Amino acid sequence: MSDLKADIALIGLAVMGQNIILNMNDHNFVVCAYNRTVAKVEQFLNNEAKGTKIIGANSLEDMVNKLKKPRKIMLLVKAGFAVDEFVKNLIPLLDKGDIIIDGGNSQYLDTQRWCKELAPTGIYYIGMGVSGGEEGARYGPSLMPGGHPAAWPHVKPIFQAICAKANGEPCCDWVGEDGAGHFVKMVHNGIEYGDMQLICEAYNLMKDVIGIDQDEMSQVFEEWNKGDLDSFLIEITRDILKFKDTDGKYLLPKIRDTAGQKGTGKWTGIAALEYGVPVTLIGEAVFARCLSALKDERVNASKVLPGSSLKFTGNKTEFLDHLRKALYASKLISYAQGFMLLREAAKANKWNLNYGSIALMWRGGCIIRSVFLGNIKDAFTKNPQLTNLLLDPYFCERISASQNSLRQVVAQAALVGVPTPAFSSALAFYDGYRSDALPANLLQAQRDYFGAHTYELVTKPGEFVHTNWTGHG
Ligand code: NAP
Repeated sequence: MSDLKADIALIGLAVMGQNIILNMNDHNFVVCAYNRTVAKVEQFLNNEAKGTKIIGANSLEDMVNKLKKPRKIMLLVKAGFAVDEFVKNLIPLLDKGDIIIDGGNSQYLDTQRWCKELAPTGIYYIGMGVSGGEEGARYGPSLMPGGHPAAWPHVKPIFQAICAKANGEPCCDWVGEDGAGHFVKMVHNGIEYGDMQLICEAYNLMKDVIGIDQDEMSQVFEEWNKGDLDSFLIEITRDILKFKDTDGKYLLPKIRDTAGQKGTGKWTGIAALEYGVPVTLIGEAVFARCLSALKDERVNASKVLPGSSLKFTGNKTEFLDHLRKALYASKLISYAQGFMLLREAAKANKWNLNYGSIALMWRGGCIIRSVFLGNIKDAFTKNPQLTNLLLDPYFCERISASQNSLRQVVAQAALVGVPTPAFSSALAFYDGYRSDALPANLLQAQRDYFGAHTYELVTKPGEFVHTNWTGHG
């Protein structure tokens, strides 16, 4: 038996696990590979890992014996049951100070539960969000670790070596206690839903309001990608728009308009409702996918329900300029909402989140990577206590300059009858957030009228009173 001890073990030899192992190997870490279906270990060693320093294990015991102490074991298996089973089976094999890292898309509540359960054993637990898909895992993912803080110094050199770099800085830093890493990853995925929906709405408006062809759309996205919308998602949209099928026709119109989803957007929406934070744009993005899935109902309704008879009569170039600014403004509002959710969850869970470093972790390696996230990092670096991104002087100036374009786009879409749930919700939030008076006074009166729920007077906040609205005893 070889005496070579591995720096880290990785369990889960599907696409993510294999790529992270190869990435770690490239950075001179010795990795021990293991998988539930043990035959896959040999297969991996004899193929993708051939000629590397990667070693394999044929059981959990074998794997644990091949590790340097404190042992570091990373899981990249299906979230939920598979993670729970592996953690349960690892506990009796590990010592105080050893570290389990769950790199899957686990719910932050599961991570919180494991951190709590493992605390008395002295085994450290890290829940780490991994973003960037297959390619990211292989050459530099965005990594968002959270859990027992004492574990961080032991794994930091590995994760900061293998992660993506933005302007030379690692897109991986300690996020916070217990489920913070997986919570931040969840919000990242929610924001991804929002960004994607906004881009889809922009495409729909180009198609159904101003009626430009896909080549022209692709050029517009190419231009947008040179400015402050510069991002991975704008870049791939440009490429998708110009992509031709084998018959020489565009592929995009041939794709059925029903969106799938794996649940992380929904979890963000649920968390927003639970923490009472108006994360409206991500919510609309999730619902837009749900509405798209009702294809048969929509086809029937399209034959029955009337739309608008108005046509766009304005200037196309001007509209495209409004659209670019509306996209920027809405994206900014969506990120502001996402950071509001992080702030509220941090307060409730006593996480000490560093918002600037979260923006930096998303700056490279992941699906929402963009130049814009660099500006967000700057805003939080200048003022770590910033209550809302929209109030940062740079972003306040940007939203002031683009909010009118958002109004133009939402109004035009409404007049022509093209759905823009994400753009519209961004505008509604913006107008609500900047209102010093909302009609919630009437709401409170209604609640008090039918349910004696009481209300506060403007002049006496904190003092709750009830009125007998009907005059009846
Ligand atoms: P996956 O398809 O989610 O999971 C496959 C792995 O899980 C295999 O190693 C499989 O072992 C193991 N597994 C499944 N059920 C199990 C069970 N009941 N008990 C023990 N092991 C079980 O793999 P993946 O796509 O590489 O993703 C891994 C994790 O990373 C997931 O949580 C995923 O959500 C997350 N993630 C994925 C991506 C992506 O782009 N794919 C990006 C970010 C994060 P067997 O070989 O024995 O079946």
